[in-house]
Order: sequence, then C-alpha cells, then structure tokens
Amino acid sequence: MRTLAGAFADYRARSFWLEQATAGYLQSPALEGVARADILVVGAGLSGISTAYHLKLAEPSLRIVVLESEVTGYGASGRNVGFIVPYVSPSLRLMAMRFGAQRAREARRYAERACAYLVETIARRRLDCDYEARDYLRVARTPAELRRAQEELALARRLGIEDIEWLDAGAVREQVDSPTYLGALRERRAGLLNPARLTRELKRVAVASGVEIYERSPALTLQFEPVVRAQTPRGAVEADRCALATNAYSAQFPALRARQCPLHTYAVLTEPLTPAQLGSLGWQARQALSNMRIFRHDYRLTGDNRLLVAGGNAHYLAGNQTAVNHDTRAFEDLAIFIDQTFPSLRGIAIAQHWSWVVSATADLAPALGVLGNAPRVVYSVGNLEHNVALSYLNGRALSDLLLERKTDLTDVFFVKRATIPLPPEPARSPLVNGVLSLLRARDALDERRGLGNSAIRRA
Ligand SMILES: Cc1cc2nc3c(=O)[nH]c(=O)nc-3n(C[C@H](O)[C@H](O)[C@H](O)COP(=O)(O)OP(=O)(O)OC[C@H]3O[C@@H](n4cnc5c(N)ncnc54)[C@H](O)[C@@H]3O)c2cc1C
Repeated sequence: MRTLAGAFADYRARSFWLEQATAGYLQSPALEGVARADILVVGAGLSGISTAYHLKLAEPSLRIVVLESEVTGYGASGRNVGFIVPYVSPSLRLMAMRFGAQRAREARRYAERACAYLVETIARRRLDCDYEARDYLRVARTPAELRRAQEELALARRLGIEDIEWLDAGAVREQVDSPTYLGALRERRAGLLNPARLTRELKRVAVASGVEIYERSPALTLQFEPVVRAQTPRGAVEADRCALATNAYSAQFPALRARQCPLHTYAVLTEPLTPAQLGSLGWQARQALSNMRIFRHDYRLTGDNRLLVAGGNAHYLAGNQTAVNHDTRAFEDLAIFIDQTFPSLRGIAIAQHWSWVVSATADLAPALGVLGNAPRVVYSVGNLEHNVALSYLNGRALSDLLLERKTDLTDVFFVKRATIPLPPEPARSPLVNGVLSLLRARDALDERRGLGNSAIRRA
C-alpha cells in the first residue's frame, strides 16, 4: 500500500492549485447586514464569477452581489486538472447517442467557441493563470478503448470535425512513452492552466468592474417570492433576480434536486520528477493526456514537473453529500495507475491528494435553465468533466438569460432543456451507485483482458 501524504485540512489549500493561488490572494469579507442588489449570484466558481462578470459588462449600472460559502474556487473550479479542451460531455459519441448528430455537432462548436473565448479573455485581461497551449491526446490502452477511439474518430469525421487525428502506437509512444499505449486521438487546439488561479483572476477583474463578492457567506436559506432573499450567517441579500451557480452543491435547493447529483472524484500529485525520470517518459511537448476508459484518467505535468493524475473513479454518497471524501482506495488506485502507465516511475511518492465534487445530470450533459416561467431565477448544473472553458461561456449565457436577451448562446439546445429527473432518496442512492458499479465493472473487465501490448496479443 502506498503512503499518501498531504491530505488538505484547511479550506485555503484543498488542492495543489488552491495552495498555489493562496499567496497574495485577497480574501473578500463575509457579508454583514442586509445588502440590496439587482442580481444575486450564488456560488463563486467559474460559472458564478463568469455570470457576475458578464452581467456587469452588459449592464454596468446593475448592482451584482455574489455569495460564496467558502472561498472563490473552493469547488471543482479550484481543484480540477486544468485542461482546456473542446468537449461538452465526456465524448462526441455519448452526445450523439443522447441528442442526435446535429446537436453533437452544435455542442462541439459551442465547446470550441468556449475554449477560444476563454483563451482570448486570458490574453486580453492578462489573467495570470499559467496558461500554455498544448496538444490533447486521448490514448487507447485496451482493445475496448481502441474500439471506442476508432468509433469516436469515425463519428467526428461524419460530423465534419476534421481536427481530430489518429496516431498509431508507434507515433503516440514517440510523443509520450508508455507500454500501455496502443494509439491515440490527437487534437491541436487545447491548453493547460492553473484552474484556481484562473478563477481568482476572473474574480479580480469582476471585482474591478464593480461586482461585490462575499466569501465565507453561504446562502443558508433562499426564497424567491416576493423578492429573491438569501439569508447568510450574519446578513441577507435581497435582489430582483438570481443565478444559482452551485453545480454539484445544487441538491440543497429543492427546485434543483431532481436535475443532478453530486459525484466525488479524486486526484493525486507526485513530487517533482527528476530530469532522468522526465526523460524516461519522452513527453517533451507536455501534452494534456486522457485515456478512453469510462472512468477516464486525466493527467498532465505541472509547471514544476510533478505528475498530476485525476479521475479513474467516481462515487455518489447517500443523501447528496458534498463534504470532502477521503476514499483511500480511490487514491491508491491512482497511484497504481501511475505505476502501470509509467513503469520507470514505479513506487514514486505521492506528495498530495485531494477530492472534489462534480455535478452529473442523468445524461451527463450540462443544463442551463430558468426556474418557473419568468427569467428571475436561472441555474447551471451538470458541469462534469471538461467544463472549465464551458463554465466561462455558460456564465455569459446565464447573463443573457437574466437580462432577457435572446442571443445565439441562449439558443443552444442545452439551455432551457428538459432534464431526465433523478429520483429522490432513498431510491437515488441504489440507482446511482448501481449504475456506477456496472460502469466500474466494465472498465475492470476491459483491463483484465489486457493492457498495452499484452492486449494486442490477447485480442
Ligand atoms: C476528473 C475530473 C477532472 C476535471 N478536469 C477538468 C479539466 O481539466 N478541465 C475542465 O474543463 N474541467 C474539468 N473538470 C470539470 C470542472 O472542474 C467543472 O466542470 C467546473 O469547475 C464547474 O464549475 P462551477 O463553477 O459550475 O462549479 P464549482 O466550481 O463547484 O462552484 C460552485 C461554488 O458554489 C459554492 N456554493 C455551494 N453552495 C453554496 C451556497 N449555499 N451559498 C454560496 N455558495 C455556495 C461552492 O462553495 C463552490 O465554490 C474536471 C472534472 C473531473 C471529474
């Protein structure tokens, strides 16, 4: 069993990224007394900060107040892997199966636009978030993953998406050397960044434009009639309109409970690799890497050459729990994944590990919407895997919805879409965990049939 160091006890440092983004960070005050606003935004992750920022850009005279339970970027926005990749849901294939080819194409275009828009904002607003343009490789390691990759490529071609290309085993291993790689899908227009820094830099520009943010100020109760009113521990906000940007934390609001459930996921981070260790991997071009498992692993190098690996598993905790989850087994499995993927790093020390929650709708696609008929209360749920850039553009869509502006963003099919309702507890827990167990068993079976060259021999 591997020793796991560095469980984060302090909210400021719930991930390597948050820890790095803490030095020099100016925490906002908690709300004291009653604040009157035109629009209240609940949640200071990427979705919430982006909504507030775009509202202020569109209507500078509006008073916009953001409430955050903990600190800006405390949720998935400050803990994820930091890939900027053009996906709305886990794969094109899943999107096409659920919504049809036309909408899968539309989703891809939206995600491409989201990435380009975020990168353009980073440059124009000089956001200090360690952004680097990098290729994105989705590697196949088993016959099942190979089949999935080929199907994804064929679908991309049918949808007219030309910028995904196939690398065979030799070509991918020239780029990053793992004996498990059988081939990879490569995309050129991707990037890496520090997600906590990005969120806090966006907060900086939002505040500079006049948005008011209160941290350590959870909305304890929320009423929508006759005006929006959020009660916090030492104050309250009254507003005409409201955006719920609480993603995986949304089950606390009864109106959003059936639309999504929180899933816990995990990350481990090694000590910085030595030049010899790094050299043994190739990986000169520092690509963003995922595999084609159902519970995908996402991995990358950090600026100081640590290996960060996330995903590999997801758990639902009964009653929609969102508190930090210290599932030792899930972290150990990530360490084993490192050993399998890069034998030259076998046994490498895990310096830090952390978990976080993401929001899953029943069909794993995001949903932006309006509660009731009038656009007084809008929400964003279902930000799952590759949704950093997406959350940023979604914030602009939420701002358009609140301001009753009909734009190309509010026309996208996952805005105001009907979600498939998830049952309440006690049925929710066995249902969600049952599905997760089946998917886990599928990944395990695929891997038992062999990884890498041994898989080819057995297939
Ligand atoms: C394995 C894995 C890897 C990922 N890696 C990537 C990646 O590389 N690239 C990518 O694009 N995406 C990635 N993601 C997804 C991405 O992190 C999320 O989709 C995105 O950060 C969601 O942002 P958000 O603002 O919607 O939610 P959050 O960041 O969770 O923000 C919600 C905020 O609401 C606050 N809140 C909750 N309740 C209240 C309340 N009552 N009052 C006030 N505030 C409240 C929370 O504290 C939190 O700060 C990954 C996901 C997984 C599973």
